[in-house]
Amino acid sequence: MKRPKLSLIFNLFYRLRLFYALHRATNRNRLTVLAYHRIDDPHRPGFDTFAPNVSATPAQFAEQMALLQARYSVVSAADVTAWLRGEKPLPPYPALITFDDGYFDNFKHALPVLKKFGFPAVVFLATNYIGKSDPFFWDLAAYCFAHTEKTTANFPLAGELHWHDSASRTAVMVGWLERLKTVSDAEKWAHIHALPDLLDVSIPDDAFAGITMSWAQVREMVANGVTMGAHTMSHPVLTRVSPKQARAEIFGSKVRIEAEIGVPVTTFAYPNGHPADFNAAIQQDLADAGIEAAFTLVPGPATLAEMRANPFTIRRIFLSHKDSLPRFAAKLVGLPRMLGFPR
Ligand SMILES: [Zn+2]
Repeated sequence: MKRPKLSLIFNLFYRLRLFYALHRATNRNRLTVLAYHRIDDPHRPGFDTFAPNVSATPAQFAEQMALLQARYSVVSAADVTAWLRGEKPLPPYPALITFDDGYFDNFKHALPVLKKFGFPAVVFLATNYIGKSDPFFWDLAAYCFAHTEKTTANFPLAGELHWHDSASRTAVMVGWLERLKTVSDAEKWAHIHALPDLLDVSIPDDAFAGITMSWAQVREMVANGVTMGAHTMSHPVLTRVSPKQARAEIFGSKVRIEAEIGVPVTTFAYPNGHPADFNAAIQQDLADAGIEAAFTLVPGPATLAEMRANPFTIRRIFLSHKDSLPRFAAKLVGLPRMLGFPR
C-alpha cells in the first residue's frame, strides 16, 4: 500500500486540532525555542543567496506569530536567564523567538511583525559580518551556483558532480556544503575561495552589500525590545578550530556586541548547532565569558528540567520556509524530536 504523504497527515491533524491538543498536553513545562535565520521570499526575482537559510517568508512569519500569540507566552531572553538564576518562574507554555547570524531581513521583515505583536526576541550575531558586505560561506557558494553556466564540475572533497536543473543544482550545492563542514575551518575557506573559478563565476564588488544588519540597525532592534546574543565572530564550527581560537571567537563576539550596544550579552548560539559542533570545553569557555544560556539546533522543545540540568545545550526548533502552518504546528509539539526526522 502506498503510504500517505506526511504533509497530508499534518494537514489532517492540524484540521482536527490534534497538534493543539498535543501542545496543551505537553508544552506547559517546556521552553519552545524557535530558531529562525532569514525572513524573506527565496522565490522573489534577484534572490541568489542560500535559500535553505530562509526560515519563513514575511507572510508566513506573521501567520506563525499569530499562532504563538494564541497558544504561548512569548518570553524574552532576560526572562529565561532570570528563571535559570532562580529569580522568577517562567509562565506556562513559554516560547522564545530567536534568529541566527544577523541578516538585514530580520530588521526589515521580522522587526515590524514583532512590534505589531509586542513580542521580544533574540538575535545571535556573527559579529565580523555585521555592517560588512562580506558573505557567509553558504551565501557565497549559493551565489556561484545561481550564476554558473556550468552543469558539472570536479569538486574538492566530492569529485565530479553533475546537475541538470535548479533542484538538482541545489541538491549538489547542499551536499557539498555539508562536506565542507567536516573539514577544518581554514580548509573550508580555501575551497570556498576557489569556487568562483571552479564554476566560472565573477562576483561583483557589491553582490552582498546590505545582506547583514548595520550596527545602527542592531541598536534600533535593541531599542525595540530585541536582545542581542553572541554567535562567534567569524562563524566557524567551534569544534573545527583550535580550542584557543574557539575561546577567542566566543569572547570576541560578546565583547564586540557589548561595546556596540552597551548592554551585557548573556546568551549564545552555536554555529551549526549540532551535537558534534560543541563540547564540554566550549561550554566552559561560554561560562567563563559570562554566558548564562547557550542554544543548539538539536530539535526541541526543551524541557525545563533538562535546561536546569544544563543551560548550555538548549534545544531549538529549526524552521524552514518550506514549512506549511500545519508542519510548523507539528514541529512546535516536537514531532522532529520524537520521530527523529532531520529538522
Ligand atoms: Zn549561524
